[in-house]
Amino acid sequence: MSKVRVRFAPSPTGPLHIGGVRTALYNYLFAKKQGGDFILRIEDTDQKRYVQGAEDYILKALEWCGIAPNEGVGNDKGDFGPYRQSERKEIYQKYVQQLIEQDKAYYAFDTPEELDQKRDAVENWKYDYNTRAEMKNSLSLSEDQTQALLATENYTVRIKIPADQDIYFNDLVRGEIKINTSSIDDKVIFKSDGLPTYHLANIVDDHLMQISHVIRGEEWLPSTPLHVILYDAFGWRAPEFAHLPLILKPEGKGKLSKRDGDRLGFPVFPLQWKDPATGEISSGYKESGYLNSAVVNMLAFLGWNPGTEQELFSLSELEKSFDLSRVGKSGARFDADKAKWFNAQYIKNTEDAVFADHLKQHFEGFDQDYYRSVAKLFKERITFFSELKDKAAFFFSAPEHYDEKTMKKKWKDDSGQIVQDLAKIFNDTDFSSYQLKQAFEEYVQAKEIGFGKAMIAVRLTLTGKGAGPDLFESMQILGVKEVTQRMQKLPA
Ligand code: GLU
Repeated sequence: MSKVRVRFAPSPTGPLHIGGVRTALYNYLFAKKQGGDFILRIEDTDQKRYVQGAEDYILKALEWCGIAPNEGVGNDKGDFGPYRQSERKEIYQKYVQQLIEQDKAYYAFDTPEELDQKRDAVENWKYDYNTRAEMKNSLSLSEDQTQALLATENYTVRIKIPADQDIYFNDLVRGEIKINTSSIDDKVIFKSDGLPTYHLANIVDDHLMQISHVIRGEEWLPSTPLHVILYDAFGWRAPEFAHLPLILKPEGKGKLSKRDGDRLGFPVFPLQWKDPATGEISSGYKESGYLNSAVVNMLAFLGWNPGTEQELFSLSELEKSFDLSRVGKSGARFDADKAKWFNAQYIKNTEDAVFADHLKQHFEGFDQDYYRSVAKLFKERITFFSELKDKAAFFFSAPEHYDEKTMKKKWKDDSGQIVQDLAKIFNDTDFSSYQLKQAFEEYVQAKEIGFGKAMIAVRLTLTGKGAGPDLFESMQILGVKEVTQRMQKLPA
């Protein structure tokens, strides 16, 4: 069997949507599992839609996810370059000529206005084997007329779709697909600007770059019959196809869009993007505090599942487990809470030393063991590292403000007395969370005070907040000196 070679082929028309990242990820995983190549090809033949900075963004996004290509744009290796379609113009010209000479494609001179007129006049009008004879093209005109127009007019090249033929192809996700050519129009394969359209460039490149499997989004499924016809026309063997399910809005209907992200407050792009034309900023997962490993894990599950209960997969585990046969046909609903859940899981599993570094960024000047102890306490309590700045602050300085709402609701007339009593008791207690809790319980029982009421009084005094990590463990970390000191100053 020939080598597995897959490509991710984005058009640089803006930032890469997470759907695109997922396509790249599945290609990467498929290549890794089969010991194949993962290629990045930039499909930039539509110059009207070209956006400055988009290619760079795509590369950075793949890198952040840990799925950089091993061949193609951004990578000097590879014998099949150039990998940017705009640099391959001459190559396509040669192949268009070949199709024209073999009567499998033809020149068309119809102006956009003439085409619009037809479409307006006839409902569902198509440029195809039924209508091509009545249009202005090298099939309907004489050789002399054609040559004359070629010298003076803009022209496009259209594929001559064979009449009434059944086209079959196999999709690794969807099974065998059959379609009759009568529903396909004579698509433009070469434009008046001297560049091929997506369809032609895509299949010429997939052939020349020896791509074995085309793994891409479902939106390209309707184009595949045309691609199969083009492979046939050239006498080339088509690659295997796999069309990935759409990523759906959280509500379950329709494709997930940037607007859904704006509306519901989650990013739809891996990295932040600043639109070069408008300056508008779109948020990214990275800048919003998501870990790359969590994002990759979350994306892997949008359309694929391992068939077991296991949900947490590192990239290298995914490389071993991923299988196209477990990719579903139906759309995958995006779930922002699940994305957060994945992030929380990865934070929980972060090594103490790495977690401690995040604390150090906000709070300088403490020793490593202290950071580590605080880290342990917060591991299961946060979804984003950025929460530490506020939530862990009390470990690094005594509170100066006390949460107003909690004070109003929970600070009672006898709260001050309770704190003072407990300060004395704690001072005489062995300073472990277990002993502190015992002493606390004995006190509230003896005094017949509510556990919660006393607890919140101490918490407010020590942390300034109404909620936080386990109070007794926090006290053990803060130490006797700090605790006693803080308890001498009552909140106000
Ligand atoms: N340039 C196409 C895109 O932007 C590539 C589709 C394909 O993979 O064939 O998605």
